[in-house]
Amino acid sequence: MDLFVCEICNKENIDKSCSISILDVHICNLCLESIVETQIGTLKYGYYKMLIKKMWGDYIIAKC
Ligand SMILES: [Zn+2]
Repeated sequence: MDLFVCEICNKENIDKSCSISILDVHICNLCLESIVETQIGTLKYGYYKMLIKKMWGDYIIAKC
């Protein structure tokens, strides 16, 4: 059985249907819902924006 670890909260998600895979990382449904519901301009928005930039950077570096 594959084990997926959420890149944001580090929770283990055994069931792949409970997470999404983007840029070669997994994000659990709870974190995804939180990202979607976060208001632009809030501290939390800045935090998620920084994390996604890091994921994007890591992905580009890994593919080069
Ligand atoms: Zn998560």
